[in-house]
Amino acid sequence: MDTSNLPIRQYAADILAAVEKNDVVVVIGETGSGKTTQLSQILLEAGYGDHGMIGVTQPRRVGAVTVARRVAEERKVELGGEVGYAVRFENRTCSSTKIKYLTDGTLLQECLEDTHLSKYQVVVLDEAHERSLNTDILFGVIKKLLASQDGARCGSAAAAAASWQQQQKQQQVGSSSRSSSKLAAAAAAAAAAAGPQQKRLGVGPIMAVAMPAQHRLKLLVTSATLDGEKFSAYFNDCPVFNVPGRCFPVDVIHSQDDHMQDYAAAAVDTALQIHMQQPPGDILIFLTGQAEIDKAVQRLNSEVCKLPADSAGELLVLPLYAALPPELQLRVFRPAQPGVRRCIVATNVAETSITVEGVVYVIDSGVMKLKSYNAASGMDSLEVTAISRVQAAQRAGRAGRTRPGKCFRLYTRRYFERQMPDTTPPEICRTSLAGAVLGLKALGLPGLDVLSFDFLDPPEQASLCEALRQLYVLDALDVDGGITPTGRAMAALPLEPALARALLEAHKLGCLEEVITVAAMLSAEHVFAAGQGPESRAAANALTNPAPPGSSAAAQAEAGRKLKQLAEECQGDHLLLLRLYQMWAAAGFTRDFVQAHGLELRGMNFARDIRKQLAAVANFGSSHLQQQRPVSASSSQGQQQQQQEGGSKRRRWDEDKGPPLPSPTAGSSLGGSLLRSEGSAGSRGLGLDGRPLSRNGRAVSSPETLEKVRRALTVGFANRIARRMRLHNGYRTCNQKGALAQVHPGSSQLSSDDDGLLPEWLIYHEFVATSRPFLRQVCPTRYEWVEPLLPKLQEVDVQRLSGGKLRAQAAAAAAAAAAADAAAVAEAGQAADG
Ligand code: ADP
Ligand code: MG
Repeated sequence: MDTSNLPIRQYAADILAAVEKNDVVVVIGETGSGKTTQLSQILLEAGYGDHGMIGVTQPRRVGAVTVARRVAEERKVELGGEVGYAVRFENRTCSSTKIKYLTDGTLLQECLEDTHLSKYQVVVLDEAHERSLNTDILFGVIKKLLASQDGARCGSAAAAAASWQQQQKQQQVGSSSRSSSKLAAAAAAAAAAAGPQQKRLGVGPIMAVAMPAQHRLKLLVTSATLDGEKFSAYFNDCPVFNVPGRCFPVDVIHSQDDHMQDYAAAAVDTALQIHMQQPPGDILIFLTGQAEIDKAVQRLNSEVCKLPADSAGELLVLPLYAALPPELQLRVFRPAQPGVRRCIVATNVAETSITVEGVVYVIDSGVMKLKSYNAASGMDSLEVTAISRVQAAQRAGRAGRTRPGKCFRLYTRRYFERQMPDTTPPEICRTSLAGAVLGLKALGLPGLDVLSFDFLDPPEQASLCEALRQLYVLDALDVDGGITPTGRAMAALPLEPALARALLEAHKLGCLEEVITVAAMLSAEHVFAAGQGPESRAAANALTNPAPPGSSAAAQAEAGRKLKQLAEECQGDHLLLLRLYQMWAAAGFTRDFVQAHGLELRGMNFARDIRKQLAAVANFGSSHLQQQRPVSASSSQGQQQQQQEGGSKRRRWDEDKGPPLPSPTAGSSLGGSLLRSEGSAGSRGLGLDGRPLSRNGRAVSSPETLEKVRRALTVGFANRIARRMRLHNGYRTCNQKGALAQVHPGSSQLSSDDDGLLPEWLIYHEFVATSRPFLRQVCPTRYEWVEPLLPKLQEVDVQRLSGGKLRAQAAAAAAAAAAADAAAVAEAGQAADG
């Protein structure tokens, strides 16, 4: 493994010199130049890591894990020692860890406990071009943190610093190392001119430092696209390094006609043509998602078999997408056998995050799957969307890594030039912000207000309003937008706000074990085997869901039958997931059970791990809940006022006062007892209701407990309640717009009454638009559980929640939305009365 010739290695000295003298440095480098795997090692070799770790964030879980493994291999150390990783529900680091790869979400979670990130000497926000929601939030949080560490600092003459910045900005690192000495000289000059006025932070050389240099947090931001100027401007004009990549010319060939309609078929045909007509070199096809990729892989394999034996060599077709098991992902790093051409069919993970070597031909469909969120309807959609010109350039660049290559675009030049968008809006502008806002509130850094937060690209006010509203309904915020003890406890749980709230409610109701299991199963995502489970029951498409290797079609059908029968016995998807887990636990977590029920062992094992983690964190969450009482002065005032204004029918905001939580020190704490029951077989804890806890959760829950589970979920999903239409099985969501939707055909079969009507009230996990609007993962609920939640939906005062900081327009829109809710509530109330 020779990594010394990777481009970034050649500029190590220059980068280190800049990091030495600046709090923030932006590094731009071509994909594959070594930013992710080498930068951390370069820093370590230069002595960083001795006064805190070098933390490198990744937007994706699988990214953090594979990269850590790779770096440990390169350094010939055991993973989890000097080099480790931490992702949600998994931590493989120890006290001697110096390089830690972690997801951006995990770093944010760590901020909650350690606002100064004191465990880190350097933080690298990697893959910044992806602009993931959490990375965007980290930009603002760390910028603030750096400003506070500079509070004690004197500074330099502003003029000297400014001219120095001018020199350093967009510094193109040349092939000589002159730039390094130039940088040092400029730094020295600026240092000599240091005066008291300099207030700008993260800028220019560090002078008259109050804090010892080794204890200052350093930030590196790395990106694969040319957005350095934007990052630099945001971080007070910090220097930008451009690491030139090794890029060969790429011939771009646009299609004559528009293939946007049937791009997948066009991509397969193009690949076959390349294989027959073009000189050796691997092919990389960009498609949009797993099902589409699996189908294309099948088609390519079957078409290649039909080619005359002497017309072309062997073609090895490999899929590549984020959900692919890591060991299968690693196959793309293995070079092909001589005489074999590889054809990798990938999503946009191959654009910037995973470098596939040996690619000479790229086929660009021009599209990707993009998740977007409509704050008004609360609907998520995952749609095939046009890529941007920046992405098109990235994709083409993949062909020129080893020698001159070719990029075949399945769209016309005219489309590229006139219609393709310049850039993709960052995730922060197209996702629900409830979790992020709760995180920021919980951080509670002074001056770190959500509505005046220093975002790199501010999200829409409507989207922030909606987040505030949702958090208020979930009791996470008080009427003045202050975080409540419940909110703090929620933020401490590594779950989305809805599931976190359900967990806390479950604790009160005495069904925590069950709801932890449901949350774990929902978080594990892939618990059903290919060809089974909700998605495929809906698709029922043998082509997109090939039988798993080794399993006969008959066994698969039998598993499907069993699953269906179980689903009929359970009330909704959440209880089905719970039942499956409980049965698996009772069967001793065997592989046989998993196979017989159409589940996937990897996903189920993951759920089991998550369950353990959640049980451990639940302890922290509950002790946190206790410590936070009494609430802050401002919020308790707000509560009093509410109660005075409210009158007797008004709900009082004292829902934090559930049954008293056992204190952790008493040895009978909630998490503690769960942990013991998970861990050592001998010692058995007691559940809140006094029942002994079984080793891995109860094997069977009583009907009463299952009722409580549904009730706890209803509280957590108060923002996602739907009511059936009077005469047919369509549902209307009980929020703002009252959108119409059907239960997704892949969701559990819900029992219907004599008229064939489905349950009147539901909670849903997702509201998605695929071909039509659907509610996915549903659970029947009852009006008596919904009713106490509805007033809160009605009385949201977003202007007040935002501390009066909302623009009038946004506040008016939010008020109108609340009024619409009120109407829905009134209608529901009448129906229930009558
Ligand atoms: P960047 O972050 O700049 O895109 P990386 O540090 O990810 O670059 O990759 C540097 C080089 O290391 C690339 O040539 C890539 O193919 C190789 N590489 C990265 N991860 C692995 C791995 N798990 N196995 C084999 N090679 C890898
Ligand atoms: Mg990278």
